[in-house]
Amino acid sequence: MSELTPLMRQYSEIKSNHPDSILFFRLGDFYEMFGEDAVIASRTLQIALTTRDRGKEAPVPMCGVPYFTADTYIAKMIKAGYKVALCEQVEDPREAKGIVKREVVNVFTPGTFSPEDPRENNYIMSFFLKENLIGIAVADITTGEFLVYESIEDLRDEISRFEPKEILLPLSLKNNPLAADNLDGFYLTPYDDLHFDYLESYRALLKHFRVASLDGYGCEGMVVAVSAAGALINYLENNQKGNLSFKKINVLRRASCMFLDAATLRNLEITKNVRDGDRDGSLLGILDETITPMGGRLLRSWLHRPLIELNEIKLRQDAIDILLDNKRYSKLRGLLKGISDIERLASRISFGSANARDLLSLKASLKIVPEIKQLLALHSDNLLCDLNRQIDEFFDAVNLIESAIADNPPISLKDGGLIKTGFNRDVDELRQISGSARDFIAAIEAKERQRTGINSLKVGYNRVFGYYIEITKANLSQVPADYIRKQTLAGGERFITPELKEYEAKVLGAEDRLKNLEYEIFQEVRLKISGETERLQRAALAIATLDALSSLAHVAEKYNYARPLVDDGDTIHITEGRHPVLERMHLGERFVPNNALLDSGDNNILVITGPNMAGKSTYMRQIALIVLMAQIGSFVPAENARVGYVDRIYTRIGASDVITKGQSTFMVEMTETANILNNATERSLIILDEVGRGTSTFDGISIAWAVAEYIARQIKARTLFATHYHELTELALVLNGVKNFNIAVKEWGDEIIFLRKIEEGPTNKSYGIQVARLAGLPEDILERAKEILYNLERAELNELGAPKIAYSPQAADKSRSFGTGFRKSQLDLFTTQADPVIKELLGLDILNLTPIEALNKLYEMRRKLSDKPK
Ligand code: ADP
Ligand code: MG
Repeated sequence: MSELTPLMRQYSEIKSNHPDSILFFRLGDFYEMFGEDAVIASRTLQIALTTRDRGKEAPVPMCGVPYFTADTYIAKMIKAGYKVALCEQVEDPREAKGIVKREVVNVFTPGTFSPEDPRENNYIMSFFLKENLIGIAVADITTGEFLVYESIEDLRDEISRFEPKEILLPLSLKNNPLAADNLDGFYLTPYDDLHFDYLESYRALLKHFRVASLDGYGCEGMVVAVSAAGALINYLENNQKGNLSFKKINVLRRASCMFLDAATLRNLEITKNVRDGDRDGSLLGILDETITPMGGRLLRSWLHRPLIELNEIKLRQDAIDILLDNKRYSKLRGLLKGISDIERLASRISFGSANARDLLSLKASLKIVPEIKQLLALHSDNLLCDLNRQIDEFFDAVNLIESAIADNPPISLKDGGLIKTGFNRDVDELRQISGSARDFIAAIEAKERQRTGINSLKVGYNRVFGYYIEITKANLSQVPADYIRKQTLAGGERFITPELKEYEAKVLGAEDRLKNLEYEIFQEVRLKISGETERLQRAALAIATLDALSSLAHVAEKYNYARPLVDDGDTIHITEGRHPVLERMHLGERFVPNNALLDSGDNNILVITGPNMAGKSTYMRQIALIVLMAQIGSFVPAENARVGYVDRIYTRIGASDVITKGQSTFMVEMTETANILNNATERSLIILDEVGRGTSTFDGISIAWAVAEYIARQIKARTLFATHYHELTELALVLNGVKNFNIAVKEWGDEIIFLRKIEEGPTNKSYGIQVARLAGLPEDILERAKEILYNLERAELNELGAPKIAYSPQAADKSRSFGTGFRKSQLDLFTTQADPVIKELLGLDILNLTPIEALNKLYEMRRKLSDKPK
């Protein structure tokens, strides 16, 4: 490190303050990277690596990107997991004495760089833990949203409600297993604990929001949340050098929305499908027909946080009804097409990064506002009227932009061309001067050609010499004495004249001053508009709401949804319900609608049996999705629906393997089940799909049985319970409020046909072998499987308690004599009262009954016999 050039000394100094970032170092029209940074960047960005070798210093690896394409490269670096520190020249190189002053103006991380999909928020989340309480702050710097709250839920669940691109956490928690376990797969930024100190945080918030207390926001005294929020503000201020557009703190009122945990969001495929994480195939994929990105973001957040306040739900439903009236939604959507992302534009204007084109698209959007307001000018009092009141008309802003900003401005702000002629006298004058001088220079060519008689004489311009006259070799003898030679080329020579230089000074002087003046005026205009930030943000939210509502109206009409009745009763009654996503897929068969009735009384727990592939999971999800849709205010895929509101939807679906986390399927399953049993209330909706599958059969049945019993007796949450253990249908015999349902199939010889219809009553077969045949298992195997099944069904265990799977009928002829047609073990599994029942049943003419009818009969009698308290 002996002799560095002044430039490299400056570089090293700045780099030493950002050791963990890739430093994009502005040099003229490029951002250059040096040393280790250059090696990483050239590999990540696929750009050439060269060396900087200036004799004096040791050669350094370097690479660079043009400044105007920097965004794409920054995005690539961030995607690859790096931070980028953007270092700019902060003074005009022409005015610099010595080396140009440079500073880092931004540090970009995943949570602070614009997202790839504008329909998603770019959240950064900060959390702090104290005993059982999690303090949470969530911000999106691209929209100006800042949210805080406290929670006693699982950290993982809280994180999945926002899907943050970056998580800020106290350094000391980084290796705390409690936190670390939940943070897998997220971009983490550990931050010094002292920033999470309550007093420090509190002060940071007061200072940032320029308030004297947090009372006005309703978060005074939320100690844990304030700690998280203060740290977040501190971090963002440091990284963004104060360029933030948060105008207020929102407190998330937890009690006002339905809580969906991480497992449920995933299982019900709310915003992304389980297969590849894409939005196609998710509920959002169906419901999101929003036109503006801000509408898309809002609808997404509605799905993450459905409502539970009936009044708010009704307001949205009423609004959708009004929008459906006369296809009002369609006109509204037509207008929304002209509206850009006002929310993000307002933010960029507010923190001074908006360019002239941004102002023009804001103007174009605001010009449509009066038309929208007119469409909403309705007489009755409803949500649409309320939204209308939130949207101001921005005549001043529109006029200012219209008169000040040129029609086709460049992206760059320093190259002129921003300000409209007629807006500012000085601008007009400078333009005139540079324009006429330019004309004069053009005229010099003609004049000099005539004077010298050289027809090939040309006037040209370059950065080094300014304007010059070029003469080819052949004509050099005719050059007049007053030409001053400047440069010799292969084919000729370049000259200047005093006259040329005089006009050059006029042009360049005027152009320079013009560019500076235009930039200044532009900044003034932008600052003026930024005074409207709060009003703009308010209007943006209202327009986003309109967009989300008209998307729901549009979808409701397109797919024939019905308005559900959402009330505080306990009944969920759905007639001809459909699965919103599956019904839109090409299944190769018509989607069969189904009814459902759940309440806290007789229809509290529905045990659903049926062979694999019959449609159990589909049926249960469809009910959960209909409830969820109803509670975001949407219409639902059903003929008719009544939804006694739900405070939480719990799901335990399928065998989700989280092998990477080192947990077995069974462990995951039991953890999720425990979460349900510990938290569900009478108002909850529980979906249990094949609980107990991950362990041995008897274990599994026992656990599933006990879980169901606990829900029926203790929790009384409305519950759907699908199982392939048909033994569980006996729950209905001993528990109040448990009903059996099955999904009908038709037997056809050795085959089955799926009817997709739910019907009351249990199944007594699992049809596994028939399903295996459908899947194409070889016939030999199916035959052998039938044989084994026969053995199993005859006597499941031998004298030693081991399964008699190896048993073969040929080898044990004599044992064929017993077997009554009933599987005694099944009936006896959980009750000791089987014998009198069977006796009574055998007295009946069972031959005229189908197996299901016979079984139902049996259950009915058993119910009579058992001393169930009613
Ligand atoms: P199960 O959980 O009983 O094994 P699924 O619910 O996974 O069965 O359904 C299996 C497949 O059956 C689905 O992927 C779908 O293609 C089809 N299916 C399910 N329900 C219906 C329905 N109501 N109408 C038409 N097809 C259905
Ligand atoms: Mg299933």
